[in-house]
Amino acid sequence: MSADTLALWRNAHVATCDAHDTRIANAALVTRGDRIEWVGREAELPEGLRVQARAVWDLGGAWVTPGLIDCHTHLVFAGTRAAEYAQRLRGLSYEAIARSGGGILTTVRATRAASEQQLFDASAPRLAALLAEGVTTVEVKSGYGLTLEDEAKMLRVARELAAVFPVRIRTTLLAAHTVPPEFSGRADEYIDTIAQVWLPQLHAAGLVDAVDVFCERIGFDTTQSERLLRAARTLGLPVKMHAEQLSNIGATRLAARYGALSCDHLEYASAEEARALKDSGGVAVLLPVAFYCLGETHRPPVAELRAAGTAMAVASDCNPGSAPGTSLLLALNMSTRLFGLTAEEGLAAVTAQAARALGLQGVVGVLAPGQCADFVIWEVAGVEELSYWVGHNRCRAVVRGGSLVRGSP
Ligand SMILES: [Zn+2]
Repeated sequence: MSADTLALWRNAHVATCDAHDTRIANAALVTRGDRIEWVGREAELPEGLRVQARAVWDLGGAWVTPGLIDCHTHLVFAGTRAAEYAQRLRGLSYEAIARSGGGILTTVRATRAASEQQLFDASAPRLAALLAEGVTTVEVKSGYGLTLEDEAKMLRVARELAAVFPVRIRTTLLAAHTVPPEFSGRADEYIDTIAQVWLPQLHAAGLVDAVDVFCERIGFDTTQSERLLRAARTLGLPVKMHAEQLSNIGATRLAARYGALSCDHLEYASAEEARALKDSGGVAVLLPVAFYCLGETHRPPVAELRAAGTAMAVASDCNPGSAPGTSLLLALNMSTRLFGLTAEEGLAAVTAQAARALGLQGVVGVLAPGQCADFVIWEVAGVEELSYWVGHNRCRAVVRGGSLVRGSP
């Protein structure tokens, strides 16, 4: 399709997911190439646009939302942790499994052993499952390689997935996921190696869109995390943080000082963290599937985040250990039932707010003129159904960059 070709998508209802949560009944969209040209009530469609449209799609009264955005995943990995899950079901603790060399290191071994092609082949079905639900933008973290070569391999696979599938992928370097065996007992040296050697090289290779740190009692402390955040900001890279998942050690307040795009998990955050994120413009990314799979009981402070006016996003956290799932819609459902998000907050959390968590506000996540023409056509009577169904996918068709890439309207 030429960049200037107009297409009309008519006979629809539209949830724009803008700041006013605008719902437009009897609506139409006009796309120009890969961008949205116009959206509004069909009765108010300018005649010039109607006449110029080279293609006209009748959506049969369907609901349309922006393409969904999964803003926190670890979907590139090899192997599974199903055997360890079975051990945990029999009563073995996560810590005992980790002490015996399992846990995240199980996935590190499998990921290191996999060739780039094997890693691609293992990850592709997980991405395909997300896309089948109307996801058009996905964040993918590294963090199971933990050597320069293996982290680069993971990030290249993420780039290759973006080249093969109709999806926008943002990569995040999470080499500071855990201390690898090679650096056992030398966490400071490991952080400095990432900050001074790996990050500049991977950035120069065009593989890094953002930098993340697992800042936690059992991860990296705030002093170590800060060294990496500083190195990222020096290179002009945005930062994110796995923060306050298991304890509160000040990760969010640190990340806010570095203008982090998001702080993710936040089970042990308080009103203070909510305000810090609000003031810094950061997004609170909630990950209910990990909360569910780990059997956590300490919920993130949704009421405090709401009171502070902090943006809330929801993501799948797809990973082999704590969230072996490939459904953003299920995460959305869980965020309403387990965390107390409203249906409206939930929809914004997987569209506009998720875009902000990736620094893509103004690009995707809202149906408005100038934004990318990424949208989903749903087989639903109202968009509340998106957070209502438990594991039931009502996606009928997906348009990515102005082109129909799934289903038929
Ligand atoms: Zn994560």
